[in-house]
Amino acid sequence: MIEQLRTNLPLWVEASRVHAREGQVAAYIPELAKAPRDALGISIMGRDGTTLTAGDNSLLFTMQSISKVFTLMLALSDNGEEGVFEKVGMEPTGDDFNSMLKLELVEPGKPFNPLINAGAIAVTSLIHGASPAEKSERVLRYFQDIAGGAPLTYNESVFRSESATAHRNRSLAYFLKDNEVLGEEIDVEDVLSVYFQHCSIEINVEQLSRMALVLAFDGTDPITERELIPRRYVQIAKTFMMMCGMYNASGEFAIRAGIPAKSGVSGGILAVVPGQFGIAVVGPALGAKGNSTAGVHLLETLSTAMDWSIL
Ligand code: GLN
Repeated sequence: MIEQLRTNLPLWVEASRVHAREGQVAAYIPELAKAPRDALGISIMGRDGTTLTAGDNSLLFTMQSISKVFTLMLALSDNGEEGVFEKVGMEPTGDDFNSMLKLELVEPGKPFNPLINAGAIAVTSLIHGASPAEKSERVLRYFQDIAGGAPLTYNESVFRSESATAHRNRSLAYFLKDNEVLGEEIDVEDVLSVYFQHCSIEINVEQLSRMALVLAFDGTDPITERELIPRRYVQIAKTFMMMCGMYNASGEFAIRAGIPAKSGVSGGILAVVPGQFGIAVVGPALGAKGNSTAGVHLLETLSTAMDWSIL
C-alpha cells in the first residue's frame, strides 16, 4: 500500500492543485488573505513514523477550526463527559460554522455541537487554568505533545487580526453569556482570547499529520507508544469529525471520502484513516462552505483509490 501511495501521491497532488482555482482564500480574518492561493501540500504518516509528503509541504498555516478537535479532548479531560455535554450538544447543524440560526432551538443558548464556533467557544470556556495566559499555555503544551514534541507557537499577527475583526464570534460569545452557557464567573473577552489563540497556533502538514496519527491510533502515539489522550475522548472527537468536521459539507465528504476529517479556514484539513494513517493537507483556497477545494479533491481521490472509507 505504501508503495502505491509513494508512486502516486505527487501525481494526485498535481491533479488536485488545479481545483484551487475554484476557491478563494479566506479574507474575513484579514491576515489569512495573504496565503498563497494555489498552494497544496500533504503529509501522510504511518504507524512506524514513515512519512510521505508531496507538494507545498513546508507551508506554515494556522490551525483555525482544526484546533477545536483538540480543545474538545482537553476540555473532556478537564471536566469529564457530563461537564462538557451540559454546555454543548451532540448534533450536526447543517448550517455555516459561524451561524447563529439554531442557537435558540432546543435548549436556548446551548450550541448544537463543539465544532461550530459557538460550541467551540463554550468548550474553550471549560479549559482549566488560573488565567487566560495559563489556559493558552496548557493548550499549547497539549497540542505540542500530540504533535510529537517539537515546539509550536502562536502566530501573533493572525491572532491580532482575528481578535480585531471578530464581531460575529463576539456576538456569539455574548449570546452564550446571556443564556448562561458561559457562567457568571466567566469573562467573555478572556474566553475569546484563549479561543483566538488556539485558532492561531501555527503548524505544518508534517506536524499536523502526527496529531492525526495519534487519533488514528485511539490516543496513543504509535511511534513512542505513549498514551496521550484517553481512547473514549478520541472516539468522541472522531465521531464529531465524521458528522460535522467539514462544516455543512460533512455529509458530502462522508459519502465521497468516508473518513473522519476536520477543516479550518486557513485551508488545512486533518484526516484520519483509523488504525493506519494520520493525514494533513493544506490548500488555502476555500469553496463556498469553507473547505479547501484542492484539499477536499485530494482527500477524496486518495480515499477512493486506497479504499479507505470506514463504512
Ligand atoms: N478562528 C476562526 C473563526 O472563529 C475559525 C473558523 C474556522 O476555521 N472555520 O472564525
